[in-house]
Amino acid sequence: MSSTTPIRVPEPKKSRVGVLGAGQLGRMLALAGYPLGLRFVFVDPNRDSPAGELAPLVTADYASPEALEALEACDVVTYEFENVPVDAVRALERRVTVHPSVRALGVAQDRLHEKQCFRELGIPTAPFFDVSSLAELEEAVATTGFPAVLKTRRLGYDGKGQRVLKTSADVAPAFAELGAVPLLLEGFVAFERELSLLAVRSATGETAFYPLAENHHERGILRLSLSPAPNVDAELDASARRYGRALLDHLGYVGVLALELFEAHGELYANELAPRVHNSGHHSIEGSCTSQFENHLRAVLGLPLGSTEPDGFSAMLNCIGVMPDEKTVLAVKDAHLHDYGKEPRAGRKLGHVTLRAPDRKTLAERLSLLRPKIWQID
Ligand code: AMP
Repeated sequence: MSSTTPIRVPEPKKSRVGVLGAGQLGRMLALAGYPLGLRFVFVDPNRDSPAGELAPLVTADYASPEALEALEACDVVTYEFENVPVDAVRALERRVTVHPSVRALGVAQDRLHEKQCFRELGIPTAPFFDVSSLAELEEAVATTGFPAVLKTRRLGYDGKGQRVLKTSADVAPAFAELGAVPLLLEGFVAFERELSLLAVRSATGETAFYPLAENHHERGILRLSLSPAPNVDAELDASARRYGRALLDHLGYVGVLALELFEAHGELYANELAPRVHNSGHHSIEGSCTSQFENHLRAVLGLPLGSTEPDGFSAMLNCIGVMPDEKTVLAVKDAHLHDYGKEPRAGRKLGHVTLRAPDRKTLAERLSLLRPKIWQID
């Protein structure tokens, strides 16, 4: 006789990941995490955040009691936005595992600390000077010469909070514009191109690197990223990985870390690091065996990392200010559209398209078809 007692199936344990910031990076983390059975909770002061369409969103300040309460119930907390107050993350760290380390966050938030960290690790950078007065700026410029780049130490992104000084006539006006906050003066690197390295380390210590990506900016905003970057010899690749590994070790890092680099005369110069998944890694969703988003989650949960091998050749094009017509984009073979669901606004990253091809020639052909469909309207 069969028993009528219902069989009790144990609830599978689903890890809950807390994320500080709920922008498009958070949204793509959630999209990568659901197939792994993960649950998410996001915290962002902004109510209309792209990740909020997919997962519970606590609309609150990062340092608020509501944020703390929601996040301390998670198995691990991470961030998709690096300007989270360091003190809030320190308070969280006392109650829940947080990756990447607060140390990495602190370094990435201040361009001076970032450059000092590169210097300490023997990673080449532009010459740099801490500047807090016009006299200090004039003294620093006397060493760098022109052009030079004046940057706010904190809160600069996508080229915001910086001025290129071309002649001595630019010095005082640039200081007047930016000088209310601590600044950094950098010598100008006459680079041939910009590259980025995505490195990932799991809480288990396992480490992996994506191939270098080549990045093209316009008005300080990333437009196009090619991966793997063309014309990278073994030496250049080894240098980038050496720098990436040095940073992972030094910062006790867990998660995906992005290192932005300039290439000049066959040498790499570090510009900045991002303690999070990165725009130049978006191609990895379709263009790599394992996306940067999935690998970040695997890393912070102490799971084995997935392969970072490229799956063919990819281009990633950002949709800035306006979304392209989806039909024309999707008509291009192996083009993949990502719409972040954001309100259009000039200069805002609203989505991206990843284009794939089996070889570079086909990628270039498809790219020339796709480009005007995305950028003519911006
Ligand atoms: P950042 O906000 O530091 O990422 O800078 C934005 C963009 O400005 C970079 O992607 C470069 O194109 C350019 N840039 C920044 N710093 C320098 C530098 N020291 N020399 C030359 N170009 C720079």
